[in-house]
Amino acid sequence: MSQNIQQQIQQLRDELREHNYNYYVLDNPIISDYDFDMKLKQLQELEAKHPEFYDANSPSLRVGGEVTKNFKTVVHESRMYSLDNSYSKEDLEDWETRIKKLVDGDVMYTCELKYDGASMNLTYENGTLVKAVTRGDGFQGDNVTANVKTIKSVPLQLRGDYPDKFEIRGEIVLPIDGFLKMNEARIETGEEPYRNPRNTASGSLKLQDSAEVAKRPLECLLYSLKGRHLGVDTQFEGLQKARDWGFKVPSEARLVKSIDEVLEYINYWDEHRHELPYEIDGVVVKVNSFYQQEELGYTAKAPRWAMAYKFKAEQVSTRLNEITYQVGRTGAITPVANLEPVELAGTTVKRASLHNADQIAKLDVREGDEVFVEKGGEIIPKIIAVDFTKRPENSQPTKYITHCPECDIALVRQEGEAQHYCPNYNGCPPQIIGRIQHYISRKAMDIEGLGGETVALLVNAGLISNYSDLYELTVGEVLPLERMAQKSAENLVNGIEASKQIPFERVLYALGIRYVGETVAKKLAKHYKSIDALSNASQDDLVNVDEIGEKIAESVVDFFNSEQNQLIIERLKRFGVQLELSAETLANQTNKLEGETFVVSGVFETVSRTELKKLIEDNGGKVSSSISSKTSFVVAGDKMGPSKRTKAEKLEIPIITEDEFLQKIK
Ligand code: AMP
Ligand code: ZN
Repeated sequence: MSQNIQQQIQQLRDELREHNYNYYVLDNPIISDYDFDMKLKQLQELEAKHPEFYDANSPSLRVGGEVTKNFKTVVHESRMYSLDNSYSKEDLEDWETRIKKLVDGDVMYTCELKYDGASMNLTYENGTLVKAVTRGDGFQGDNVTANVKTIKSVPLQLRGDYPDKFEIRGEIVLPIDGFLKMNEARIETGEEPYRNPRNTASGSLKLQDSAEVAKRPLECLLYSLKGRHLGVDTQFEGLQKARDWGFKVPSEARLVKSIDEVLEYINYWDEHRHELPYEIDGVVVKVNSFYQQEELGYTAKAPRWAMAYKFKAEQVSTRLNEITYQVGRTGAITPVANLEPVELAGTTVKRASLHNADQIAKLDVREGDEVFVEKGGEIIPKIIAVDFTKRPENSQPTKYITHCPECDIALVRQEGEAQHYCPNYNGCPPQIIGRIQHYISRKAMDIEGLGGETVALLVNAGLISNYSDLYELTVGEVLPLERMAQKSAENLVNGIEASKQIPFERVLYALGIRYVGETVAKKLAKHYKSIDALSNASQDDLVNVDEIGEKIAESVVDFFNSEQNQLIIERLKRFGVQLELSAETLANQTNKLEGETFVVSGVFETVSRTELKKLIEDNGGKVSSSISSKTSFVVAGDKMGPSKRTKAEKLEIPIITEDEFLQKIK
């Protein structure tokens, strides 16, 4: 039996590994996401029931969960050098001249893209990943293994004919698509967007909660092997081998015979770099032969056998005509530079973000200035500097606005926040319109027949001032609006009516509470089950809910403290909008364990550990991972940890069996 289970677990692991490889390394999935998730779930359940078959490199660990409070410093076995930079044909030719003085024979070069991310050193022993360390100062870095394991293109188990022990270096990058999606989600929940993919990638590696890292679409692109007995003699072969062992090694690398060919490669990628899914900031040229590399050696800072060629950042200068200020749905103010239109990286640029007051002060940027504009991974281009030589004589420092450009209320800026906010939640038109637009949007109430522009028209015509007003609109009222016909007016009213069927968790998301995105809304809906329970929750209650932090808790409490919001919710309730979980969803849920906190330990007979936790939550209880005085019960299965038992006994916490637990919720 146990032999069987072990085989089953092993087979699932192998299968999932293969699918991961197909999907993330080869970009060529052969099963649906759904089938993948089902297999993963099956594996997780088996692993939960059979902790004796634990494997630190199981594909199930890709979802993260390990929390690192302080990253340990690790000394690199061999130093992670920097690279010398070149910027021109002459620089490269000088480099070749220096090389040819030090080595005999022909020199071949491997040309690679210079990925713009965070460097990473991975150590493998007997085919499994044992350590992932950041570059740090080159001599020592931070151990971020738990986080790196969640990156799907990092193989946890190698394939083929790999050396017993070696290191491999690469760059963790955040592809542009994924970066933009992350920012969309942030903007939706009223958070400031990330500035660029590189900083977001390196910031991600230092997150304490690896489950958070798992949610980010990071990738690891490999470029160099380190170690003895690698069985390869050249850089180019090394890349090929790494690919065979299951690493993601971009296929753009080329082996060339002269600096002229190197330049061809550089020119090609300078022009085509925007076609790549991730950002690069240049090309790295390496002497191909390891033997010649050894002869060349290192300077104090960098290998003599490698050279980075940095692309010129795509930059133009243009006139800043005016600084205007935008007010978002959450009241956040964003200063915008309105530019004299100019061509940059293939598009016409008219506007650039100035981010916030500090950024304006830092750049000392003023209306009328000639400014340098650059396009990186940012959604809109950014101003990197002022051309002070061209500053007009009568120029005055920029005074940041003190009042909302839309409603004229004094702006506020909270301690530690970069952004100014308009606090006029109920009276500021872009906030009012933005909130209703969010309410009707596809992922929220998905109201058919009503679009963002119509919302603005309805608000401006005085027909609605918050989302609850939607439910009183009549065909007769909306008909006079621009471009409205009988049919479209009817569709609009019907669409609004239909939204009364949208389930509670989506309504909760639609309310537009700051920081409450789709996932958080689901969590809260599941936990509190009704808007009434949620609105009565204190900040302390809220932070005790899994994955709800201080920031979200505070925002939720603020939202329900507003009398206006309470009125709106009362109205929604009266109109029949779903403000609690449906009977069907609730059928499997009770409050029998309300107020009780459980710690689960050991292996169980009739239910898996995951199922047990779900049963606790579905019946209103809380699951905690460690025993404290707040624990109500410890549910102990077979092989409960001895230290847990001692702790429970010391704190006099009742230890119950699986059967006793199941009796409780019967
Ligand atoms: P720099 O930080 O400008 O000194 O450049 C050196 C860094 O470039 C290395 O630490 C790597 O993280 C990064 N890099 C990106 N792509 C490559 C590549 N193909 N080969 C070597 N280093 C690379
Ligand atoms: Zn305002």
